[in-house]
Amino acid sequence: MTFTITRRLGITAVAALAVAALGGAGVGYAASSATTLQPAIKTITPRSEKDVTNIDVLRQQLRNYYGDALGTGQFGDDSNYAREARSAASDGAHYLAHAHPARHKTKAIILDVDDTTLATWNYEVFSNWAFNPTTNADYVLNQRFPAVPGMVSMVTSAEREGYAIFYLTGRPTSQEQATLGNLTADQIGVDAGYPKPTTLRDGEDGLFTKPDVTAYPDYLKQACAADPGGKCTTIHYKSATRAHIESLGYDIVGNFGDQFSDLKGGFADKTFKLPNPNYFLP
Ligand SMILES: [Mg+2]
Repeated sequence: MTFTITRRLGITAVAALAVAALGGAGVGYAASSATTLQPAIKTITPRSEKDVTNIDVLRQQLRNYYGDALGTGQFGDDSNYAREARSAASDGAHYLAHAHPARHKTKAIILDVDDTTLATWNYEVFSNWAFNPTTNADYVLNQRFPAVPGMVSMVTSAEREGYAIFYLTGRPTSQEQATLGNLTADQIGVDAGYPKPTTLRDGEDGLFTKPDVTAYPDYLKQACAADPGGKCTTIHYKSATRAHIESLGYDIVGNFGDQFSDLKGGFADKTFKLPNPNYFLP
Protein backbone atom coordinates (compact mmCIF):
# COMPACT_ATOMS: atom_id res chain seq x y z
CA MET A 1 0.00 0.00 0.00
CA THR A 2 1.77 3.12 -1.16
CA PHE A 3 1.14 6.58 0.06
CA THR A 4 -0.36 7.53 -3.28
CA ILE A 5 -3.14 4.99 -2.99
CA THR A 6 -4.02 6.17 0.47
CA ARG A 7 -3.89 9.74 -0.73
CA ARG A 8 -6.41 9.36 -3.50
CA LEU A 9 -8.75 6.93 -1.81
CA GLY A 10 -8.58 8.51 1.61
CA ILE A 11 -7.80 5.25 3.35
CA THR A 12 -6.04 5.45 6.65
CA ALA A 13 -3.16 3.07 7.27
CA VAL A 14 -5.14 1.06 9.78
CA ALA A 15 -8.26 0.89 7.68
CA ALA A 16 -6.30 0.11 4.53
CA LEU A 17 -5.18 -3.20 5.95
CA ALA A 18 -8.75 -4.04 6.78
CA VAL A 19 -9.89 -3.02 3.32
CA ALA A 20 -7.20 -5.14 1.72
CA ALA A 21 -8.25 -8.09 3.88
CA LEU A 22 -11.84 -7.60 2.77
CA GLY A 23 -10.73 -7.39 -0.86
CA GLY A 24 -12.00 -3.82 -0.89
CA ALA A 25 -11.54 -1.96 -4.13
CA GLY A 26 -12.19 1.65 -4.95
CA VAL A 27 -13.92 2.92 -1.85
CA GLY A 28 -12.29 5.03 0.85
CA TYR A 29 -12.69 4.31 4.52
CA ALA A 30 -11.51 5.97 7.67
CA ALA A 31 -11.09 4.18 10.95
CA SER A 32 -12.99 5.83 13.75
CA SER A 33 -11.63 3.23 16.12
CA ALA A 34 -9.61 0.04 15.82
CA THR A 35 -12.73 -1.96 15.04
CA THR A 36 -15.21 0.38 13.36
CA LEU A 37 -14.82 1.41 9.74
CA GLN A 38 -16.56 4.55 8.58
CA PRO A 39 -16.65 5.90 5.05
CA ALA A 40 -14.20 8.77 4.65
CA ILE A 41 -16.81 10.80 2.78
CA LYS A 42 -19.86 11.76 4.77
CA THR A 43 -22.83 12.36 2.55
CA ILE A 44 -26.53 11.67 2.09
CA THR A 45 -28.21 8.33 1.55
CA PRO A 46 -30.40 8.76 -1.52
CA ARG A 47 -33.98 7.63 -0.93
CA SER A 48 -34.40 6.97 -4.63
CA GLU A 49 -32.26 6.67 -7.75
CA LYS A 50 -33.90 9.93 -8.75
CA ASP A 51 -31.93 11.65 -5.98
CA VAL A 52 -28.60 11.03 -7.73
CA THR A 53 -27.13 11.50 -11.19
CA ASN A 54 -26.44 8.29 -13.08
CA ILE A 55 -22.67 7.93 -13.03
CA ASP A 56 -22.27 7.63 -16.82
CA VAL A 57 -24.45 10.69 -17.28
CA LEU A 58 -22.36 12.47 -14.63
CA ARG A 59 -19.15 11.63 -16.50
CA GLN A 60 -20.64 13.23 -19.62
CA GLN A 61 -21.61 16.30 -17.60
CA LEU A 62 -18.00 16.58 -16.46
CA ARG A 63 -16.74 16.26 -20.06
CA ASN A 64 -19.13 19.05 -21.04
CA TYR A 65 -18.00 21.20 -18.09
CA TYR A 66 -14.37 20.81 -19.22
CA GLY A 67 -15.30 21.68 -22.82
CA ASP A 68 -14.28 18.18 -23.89
CA ALA A 69 -17.59 16.59 -24.89
CA LEU A 70 -15.88 13.73 -26.74
CA GLY A 71 -13.42 12.94 -23.94
CA THR A 72 -10.13 13.61 -25.73
CA GLY A 73 -8.42 14.54 -22.46
CA GLN A 74 -7.83 18.16 -23.46
CA PHE A 75 -10.01 20.73 -21.71
CA GLY A 76 -11.28 23.79 -23.54
CA ASP A 77 -9.81 27.20 -22.86
CA ASP A 78 -13.32 28.67 -23.08
CA SER A 79 -14.96 25.86 -21.06
CA ASN A 80 -16.96 26.51 -17.93
CA TYR A 81 -14.14 24.80 -16.02
CA ALA A 82 -11.54 27.21 -17.43
CA ARG A 83 -13.81 30.16 -16.71
CA GLU A 84 -14.36 29.06 -13.11
CA ALA A 85 -10.63 28.43 -12.53
CA ARG A 86 -9.70 31.83 -13.99
CA SER A 87 -12.30 33.45 -11.76
CA ALA A 88 -10.76 31.86 -8.61
CA ALA A 89 -7.27 32.90 -9.76
CA SER A 90 -8.43 36.43 -10.38
CA ASP A 91 -10.11 36.62 -6.93
CA GLY A 92 -6.74 35.57 -5.49
CA ALA A 93 -4.78 38.11 -7.53
CA HIS A 94 -7.09 40.92 -6.46
CA TYR A 95 -6.87 39.95 -2.79
CA LEU A 96 -3.08 39.64 -2.82
CA ALA A 97 -2.63 42.99 -4.54
CA HIS A 98 -4.54 44.74 -1.71
CA ALA A 99 -3.65 42.58 1.31
CA HIS A 100 -2.00 43.87 4.46
CA PRO A 101 0.36 41.15 5.67
CA ALA A 102 1.44 40.93 9.31
CA ARG A 103 4.18 43.43 10.20
CA HIS A 104 7.73 42.12 10.40
CA LYS A 105 6.75 39.00 8.48
CA THR A 106 7.58 38.04 4.90
CA LYS A 107 4.41 37.76 2.88
CA ALA A 108 3.88 34.45 1.14
CA ILE A 109 1.37 32.38 -0.78
CA ILE A 110 1.04 28.61 -0.78
CA LEU A 111 -0.37 26.48 -3.55
CA ASP A 112 -1.39 22.85 -3.88
CA VAL A 113 -0.26 21.12 -7.10
CA ASP A 114 -2.82 18.67 -8.57
CA ASP A 115 -5.83 20.60 -9.89
CA THR A 116 -4.71 23.80 -8.21
CA THR A 117 -1.62 24.66 -10.28
CA LEU A 118 -1.54 21.65 -12.67
CA ALA A 119 -4.74 20.27 -14.24
CA THR A 120 -5.14 16.49 -14.22
CA TRP A 121 -8.13 16.38 -16.57
CA ASN A 122 -6.15 14.32 -19.11
CA TYR A 123 -5.50 11.68 -16.44
CA GLU A 124 -9.14 11.60 -15.26
CA VAL A 125 -10.25 10.84 -18.82
CA PHE A 126 -7.45 8.31 -19.38
CA SER A 127 -8.24 6.48 -16.12
CA ASN A 128 -12.03 6.86 -16.43
CA TRP A 129 -11.89 8.52 -12.99
CA ALA A 130 -10.34 5.45 -11.36
CA PHE A 131 -7.05 6.49 -9.76
CA ASN A 132 -4.23 4.00 -10.20
CA PRO A 133 -0.84 4.86 -8.67
CA THR A 134 1.15 3.21 -11.48
CA THR A 135 -0.56 4.92 -14.39
CA ASN A 136 -0.79 8.18 -12.46
CA ALA A 137 2.97 8.05 -11.81
CA ASP A 138 3.50 7.81 -15.58
CA TYR A 139 1.65 11.12 -16.03
CA VAL A 140 3.50 12.71 -13.10
CA LEU A 141 7.01 11.50 -13.98
CA ASN A 142 6.59 12.37 -17.66
CA GLN A 143 5.31 15.80 -16.61
CA ARG A 144 2.15 15.62 -18.67
CA PHE A 145 -0.09 18.12 -16.86
CA PRO A 146 -0.89 21.59 -18.23
CA ALA A 147 -1.38 24.61 -16.00
CA VAL A 148 -4.73 25.35 -14.41
CA PRO A 149 -6.18 28.33 -16.33
CA GLY A 150 -5.38 31.72 -14.83
CA MET A 151 -3.00 30.43 -12.20
CA VAL A 152 0.40 31.09 -13.83
CA SER A 153 -0.36 34.76 -14.27
CA MET A 154 -1.70 35.05 -10.71
CA VAL A 155 1.42 33.44 -9.19
CA THR A 156 3.72 35.45 -11.45
CA SER A 157 2.05 38.69 -10.33
CA ALA A 158 2.30 37.63 -6.69
CA GLU A 159 6.03 36.99 -7.06
CA ARG A 160 6.47 40.40 -8.70
CA GLU A 161 4.64 41.96 -5.74
CA GLY A 162 7.18 40.42 -3.37
CA TYR A 163 5.35 37.31 -2.18
CA ALA A 164 7.38 34.22 -1.39
CA ILE A 165 5.97 31.33 -3.46
CA PHE A 166 5.51 27.96 -1.76
CA TYR A 167 4.01 24.76 -3.15
CA LEU A 168 2.56 22.08 -0.88
CA THR A 169 1.47 18.75 -2.34
CA GLY A 170 0.55 15.29 -1.17
CA ARG A 171 2.71 13.89 -3.97
CA PRO A 172 5.51 11.79 -2.48
CA THR A 173 9.13 12.96 -2.22
CA SER A 174 10.04 10.55 -5.05
CA GLN A 175 8.01 12.77 -7.41
CA GLU A 176 9.59 16.06 -6.33
CA GLN A 177 11.94 16.61 -9.30
CA ALA A 178 9.27 15.80 -11.89
CA THR A 179 6.78 18.02 -10.08
CA LEU A 180 9.23 20.91 -10.05
CA GLY A 181 9.98 20.38 -13.75
CA ASN A 182 6.30 20.27 -14.73
CA LEU A 183 5.49 23.38 -12.68
CA THR A 184 8.39 25.48 -13.91
CA ALA A 185 10.61 24.81 -16.96
CA ASP A 186 13.05 21.96 -17.47
CA GLN A 187 12.48 21.16 -21.18
CA ILE A 188 10.92 17.81 -20.22
CA GLY A 189 7.24 17.20 -20.94
CA VAL A 190 5.02 20.16 -20.14
CA ASP A 191 6.66 23.26 -18.69
CA ALA A 192 3.75 25.12 -17.11
CA GLY A 193 5.83 28.28 -16.56
CA TYR A 194 5.20 28.94 -12.86
CA PRO A 195 7.75 30.87 -10.81
CA LYS A 196 10.26 28.68 -9.03
CA PRO A 197 9.49 27.93 -5.39
CA THR A 198 11.12 30.35 -2.97
CA THR A 199 13.93 28.93 -0.83
CA LEU A 200 13.01 29.44 2.82
CA ARG A 201 15.27 31.44 5.09
CA ASP A 202 16.39 28.23 6.84
CA GLY A 203 17.50 26.85 3.45
CA GLU A 204 14.57 24.47 2.86
CA ASP A 205 13.28 24.33 -0.67
CA GLY A 206 9.83 25.79 -1.13
CA LEU A 207 8.25 22.80 -2.87
CA PHE A 208 6.94 20.62 -0.05
CA THR A 209 6.28 17.01 -1.05
CA LYS A 210 5.09 14.40 1.42
CA PRO A 211 7.89 12.33 2.96
CA ASP A 212 7.55 8.72 3.96
CA VAL A 213 6.48 8.45 7.61
CA THR A 214 9.97 7.22 8.53
CA ALA A 215 11.43 10.49 7.21
CA TYR A 216 9.00 12.93 8.84
CA PRO A 217 10.53 16.12 10.18
CA ASP A 218 9.81 16.80 13.85
CA TYR A 219 6.92 19.15 13.13
CA LEU A 220 5.05 16.35 11.28
CA LYS A 221 5.92 13.72 13.88
CA GLN A 222 4.42 15.92 16.56
CA ALA A 223 1.36 17.08 14.64
CA CYS A 224 0.47 13.59 13.42
CA ALA A 225 1.37 11.45 16.44
CA ALA A 226 -2.31 10.64 17.04
CA ASP A 227 -3.10 9.86 13.40
CA PRO A 228 -3.34 6.15 12.47
CA GLY A 229 0.17 4.69 12.30
CA GLY A 230 1.53 8.18 12.98
CA LYS A 231 0.83 8.97 9.31
CA CYS A 232 -0.50 12.44 8.72
CA THR A 233 -4.00 12.93 7.44
CA THR A 234 -4.03 15.42 4.57
CA ILE A 235 -5.36 18.18 6.80
CA HIS A 236 -2.69 17.57 9.45
CA TYR A 237 0.13 17.26 6.89
CA LYS A 238 -0.82 20.48 5.18
CA SER A 239 -1.73 22.58 8.21
CA ALA A 240 1.39 21.48 10.15
CA THR A 241 3.55 22.39 7.16
CA ARG A 242 1.93 25.82 6.94
CA ALA A 243 2.45 26.27 10.69
CA HIS A 244 6.12 25.35 10.23
CA ILE A 245 6.51 27.89 7.41
CA GLU A 246 4.85 30.64 9.45
CA SER A 247 7.09 29.78 12.42
CA LEU A 248 10.04 30.79 10.23
CA GLY A 249 8.75 34.36 9.91
CA TYR A 250 6.37 34.15 6.95
CA ASP A 251 2.77 35.28 6.80
CA ILE A 252 0.84 32.99 4.46
CA VAL A 253 -1.57 35.53 3.02
CA GLY A 254 -3.27 33.26 0.50
CA ASN A 255 -3.70 29.47 0.46
CA PHE A 256 -4.86 27.98 -2.86
CA GLY A 257 -6.31 24.47 -3.13
CA ASP A 258 -8.88 22.39 -4.99
CA GLN A 259 -9.77 20.19 -1.98
CA PHE A 260 -11.28 21.33 1.28
CA SER A 261 -8.52 19.30 2.97
CA ASP A 262 -6.03 21.71 1.38
CA LEU A 263 -7.75 24.67 2.97
CA LYS A 264 -8.82 23.56 6.46
CA GLY A 265 -6.66 23.82 9.56
CA GLY A 266 -5.68 27.46 9.58
CA PHE A 267 -2.28 29.14 9.10
CA ALA A 268 -3.38 31.27 6.15
CA ASP A 269 -5.12 34.65 6.11
CA LYS A 270 -7.46 33.68 3.28
CA THR A 271 -8.21 30.52 1.31
CA PHE A 272 -9.08 30.18 -2.37
CA LYS A 273 -10.88 27.13 -3.77
CA LEU A 274 -10.11 25.97 -7.29
CA PRO A 275 -12.81 23.92 -9.05
CA ASN A 276 -12.47 20.12 -9.13
CA PRO A 277 -15.53 17.90 -9.46
CA ASN A 278 -13.46 14.80 -10.31
CA TYR A 279 -12.44 13.36 -6.94
CA PHE A 280 -12.60 14.02 -3.21
CA LEU A 281 -9.63 13.74 -0.85
CA PRO A 282 -10.67 13.81 2.80
MG1 LIG B 1 -5.12 19.10 -5.38
